[in-house]
Amino acid sequence: MLTEFSLEGKTALVTGGSRGIGRAIALVMAEAGADVAVAARTLSRVEETAHEIERLGRRSVALQVDVSDSQQVDRMVKHATQALGRVDILVNNAGIGKGGPVVGDPDSSETDAPPETQDVMSDGTWHEVLETNLSSAFYCCRAVAPQMLERRRGKVINVSSTTAILAYADGAAYQVSKAGMKMLTKVLANEWAKYNVNVNAIGPGWFLTDMTQTGFDDPDWYEQTVSSLPLGRLTDLRDLGLLAVYLASPASDWMTGQILFLDGGETALYN
Ligand code: NAP
Repeated sequence: MLTEFSLEGKTALVTGGSRGIGRAIALVMAEAGADVAVAARTLSRVEETAHEIERLGRRSVALQVDVSDSQQVDRMVKHATQALGRVDILVNNAGIGKGGPVVGDPDSSETDAPPETQDVMSDGTWHEVLETNLSSAFYCCRAVAPQMLERRRGKVINVSSTTAILAYADGAAYQVSKAGMKMLTKVLANEWAKYNVNVNAIGPGWFLTDMTQTGFDDPDWYEQTVSSLPLGRLTDLRDLGLLAVYLASPASDWMTGQILFLDGGETALYN
């Protein structure tokens, strides 16, 4: 392997590392040489990823956390730091994908019912999505940054989305959270550049995970989505892991404040 792409001797913390994109990033980082702490709410699933990392010959620790709770985040970072010695790389990946229209269809008889009972976005859903997808990254960055700034070295990778710049109906909370992730990335990149801490984001396009399973199960949606991509095909989660390794490695030392879209060309159509 090119030494500039190696994560040998580095330690990473990946939120939402139990499945989907976070698990893929954690495993490819381990392949590249990193010891990796993985965190999510369902401990049994996090432990499975941690065992896979150990089978790759790296150290790992499984942490149970709800990233929307800042006190739990502080404890998670403390435990990860104690277990692995330090956190060189932080991946803010945990997220949920709840949606729904902001108000109901005026032609439907359900519009007089309270929001919680309609298929529309309630206060609860709005706050849950923003807290889980965006505030969580703020909490995690705030908890990890002091050690990175002190060492004058660190890599933060935020998982945003193509929906940070592409708007679809019925996804207000999710898409605002991902656009917020893009701006949080740029602000922190500026704030921490003088301490040699890089902050970048990945913007995935369509990847098959638990979050997107329903769409992938719909043949019409699948056909229309894939055929609209310039590359005309989808790809594996591993590709996101490889991009994350680049952003975590010395190869990307001169890159900060960027969002890199891995999307089969989708965003290139509209920018
Ligand atoms: P996923 O398969 O549903 O995985 C989500 C992960 O986040 C799980 O590990 C989940 O574990 C964890 N998580 C959710 N809420 C959490 C909370 N409150 N505290 C701690 N962990 C939590 O989804 P995914 O597709 O891999 O998504 C990962 C990230 O990529 C998300 O930020 C998503 O928005 C983004 N993304 C995905 C796609 C795509 O096409 N799949 C595209 C663009 C962006 P627990 O439920 O056990 O906590």
